[in-house]
Amino acid sequence: MTENIITLNNGVQLPAIGLGVFQTPPEETTTAVADALDLGYRHIDTAAAYGNEREVGDGIRRSGLDRAEVFIETKIWISDYGYDATLHGFAKSAGKLGVDQLDLLILHQPLTSRFDLTIEAYRALEQLLADGKVRAIGVSNFMPEVLTRLLAETTVVPAVNQIELHPYFQQKQLQALHDEHNILTQAWSPIGGITSYAGGDKRSFDDPTLIDIGARHGKTPAQVMLRWHIQEGRSAIPKSTKRTRIAENFNVFDFQLSPDELAAVDALDTDVRSGPEPDSITLDNYGMAIPEA
Ligand code: NDP
Repeated sequence: MTENIITLNNGVQLPAIGLGVFQTPPEETTTAVADALDLGYRHIDTAAAYGNEREVGDGIRRSGLDRAEVFIETKIWISDYGYDATLHGFAKSAGKLGVDQLDLLILHQPLTSRFDLTIEAYRALEQLLADGKVRAIGVSNFMPEVLTRLLAETTVVPAVNQIELHPYFQQKQLQALHDEHNILTQAWSPIGGITSYAGGDKRSFDDPTLIDIGARHGKTPAQVMLRWHIQEGRSAIPKSTKRTRIAENFNVFDFQLSPDELAAVDALDTDVRSGPEPDSITLDNYGMAIPEA
């Protein structure tokens, strides 16, 4: 399944489709992860802030796969930003996951009100990379100005920027900046989950264009959205706790969207974000502590 493999800017290979586990309760996480790996996924995206890294590790071990066969991505939360704090954040995540090395470690958010701490956190990631503790490093929710500042003040170009990206919010300017610097765009809420659970009135799953394209291929709107990401060269990390949907979201390697169909999905962009403005995340309002391993 070569289409599922993306080579990052440092040569490390990442399976394009991963299972996301944001809002997956710890008690459902082990089964969801083991189901995904059973169904062919080889990439799991978690975060220190999701409170389920331990159960992700359990799910990987339950699958019986070798550690090297599964790509593990996790994120450092803002309360662990700063050079020493971020090194310790790595130790907490690796300890909970039960692994010595992570495949991809990213900063969950830019802390624009304390950019000094953000830079120190990224320098810690650079050190972890140099020490072989992580195979690749990156960021999440970095907007163009913030990403440009990071590039100017640090050495290693992030391998990925994980951002809100679904048909209704495509961040085309940011994607172009990624392309310029060979940074992989990784889509969170890739099937527009946030257009539903954040209380929005326009659900991506009910979109007539996506339903119509899907009908031509015998596929669902979720599958059309995931196919669109793959064909446009992005990684996508759909979340589900249900085995049938986990399977559906991986069953996207047996059809092709035409150039017109890709353009029709591109045209759905409303340029309206459903998630929080990255600048609004501060230590005061979101700085909860991450427990020890
Ligand atoms: P998704 O776009 O993955 O959508 C998930 C939602 O859609 C859930 O409510 C799920 O419900 C439902 N769903 C899943 N598959 C289908 C399907 N085939 N048909 C219909 N409904 C479906 O949104 P997320 O926000 O969860 O994003 C995915 C991942 O991205 C997260 O899990 C996390 O790993 C990452 N993320 C990162 C963020 C960041 O700041 N870096 C922010 C948000 C997410 P159910 O489980 O009941 O099936």
